[in-house]
Amino acid sequence: KRRFPNEPEYIQAVEEVLTSIEDVYNENPEFERYNLIERLCIPDRIFAFRVSWVDDKGKVHNNMGYRVQHNNAIGPYKGGIRFHSSVNLSILKFLAFEQTFKNSLTTLAMGGAKGGSDFSPRGKSDMEVMRFCQAFIQELWRQIGPDTDVPAGDIGVGGREVGYMFGEYKKMAREFTGTFTGKGYEFGGSLIRPEATGYGNVYFLLEMLKTRGLSIEGKRVAISGSGNVATYTAEKLLSLGAKVVSMSDSDGSIYVPDGLSQEQLDYIFKLKNIYRGRIREFAEEYECQYFEGERPWQHVACDIAMPSATQNEIDGDDARALIANGCIAVSEGANMPSTPDAIREFQKARILYAPGKAANAGGVSVSGLEMAQNSQKLSWSAEEVDRKLQDIMTEIHKQCVKYGTEEDGYINYVRGANVAGFMKVARAMMAQGVL
Ligand code: NDP
Repeated sequence: KRRFPNEPEYIQAVEEVLTSIEDVYNENPEFERYNLIERLCIPDRIFAFRVSWVDDKGKVHNNMGYRVQHNNAIGPYKGGIRFHSSVNLSILKFLAFEQTFKNSLTTLAMGGAKGGSDFSPRGKSDMEVMRFCQAFIQELWRQIGPDTDVPAGDIGVGGREVGYMFGEYKKMAREFTGTFTGKGYEFGGSLIRPEATGYGNVYFLLEMLKTRGLSIEGKRVAISGSGNVATYTAEKLLSLGAKVVSMSDSDGSIYVPDGLSQEQLDYIFKLKNIYRGRIREFAEEYECQYFEGERPWQHVACDIAMPSATQNEIDGDDARALIANGCIAVSEGANMPSTPDAIREFQKARILYAPGKAANAGGVSVSGLEMAQNSQKLSWSAEEVDRKLQDIMTEIHKQCVKYGTEEDGYINYVRGANVAGFMKVARAMMAQGVL
């Protein structure tokens, strides 16, 4: 806190992990001798740079660009790029820190990183987005590479942005390698990567429900967001017979108590990805309830919540409202969407609660599989990737149960994920000496 006083999100993420691992840390004096906590709390390195680009009218704009390379003890740095007006170092450091432990859980060889810019693609033309992505990579390309640091998408960075960044990287580095994941299928992308975070979260949820003998069929699920993670979560849920009762964007939320139809979900998908419109337009088209400027949590009756928009989008009041309205499980698609207060409420009520670090790890897992396919210069079928994704999510769930089960049988997924993720990174760091 003393070292990074202006980084509240970063401190929040670090405190959660340190609280969870306190017991195992104290049991092993070697960890202290290697000063592992301090080494893990200071990223390996951070790049910060100016990104200047020209809009369609010929005016020059400047944004900040960053890459936080947090830890590469178990594999090359790996983590997404976020383009959003709120991006700052505190947010990227928290995301890179989380990514290190998440990637450790995936069973694949990936370290942790995150990057981005305070540039917002919203309202920009395709050509403006392209020029921004090219300017961003003209600075960053020297620091990344297929075995060094492999970026991917995140908020505001989807297939279009990854394509433009990959194109510029390829040109600058004069190599066609798997330096980005989330690429288009025609140029090295993996089948199922776009779906992976949402599908993976549902697979994790199914494992959690199983521990209480529950099935997903007929359950009402409140989702926030309407981007990549949210839409593919909804798609998988619909295919399993669940009801998706809400979605949102940064302007407001829709509520559909009987659940979205496939046709309505297709509409949202097109609205967000092709027309780049607002969720309000769905409410106008289908005349459903719309809560301007509100997140879904206070307004919906649901059995399950799957926050899939951004950090700190469920606070203590939201958590209490969700529980009072019947929610029995929360599985996080977004990174750190629940505040510490909200997490306390969920755990106090003994409902199923999975942190993003475990539940949304499907995205980076399939990114890891994309890297493996690129290295071998071949591509696997959708069924094969989906099967591997399911196996990985089941394995992550197993690790959470192993390290997180409490005396009364309650599975503390926060503790489970943090301890399992930390132990592997810690052992790898100690084995490689002080670097
Ligand atoms: P997208 O940009 O595709 O979608 C983000 C969605 O969340 C949009 O609907 C957006 O609304 C909304 N949103 C973003 N910021 C805010 C905000 N401050 N307040 C309210 N709503 C907001 O991003 P993704 O779906 O890729 O990412 C969503 C979350 O999932 C993030 O936390 C990300 O870190 C996490 N994640 C993503 C992975 C991936 O594979 N993409 C992997 C693992 C985690 P609007 O359109 O109005 O901005």
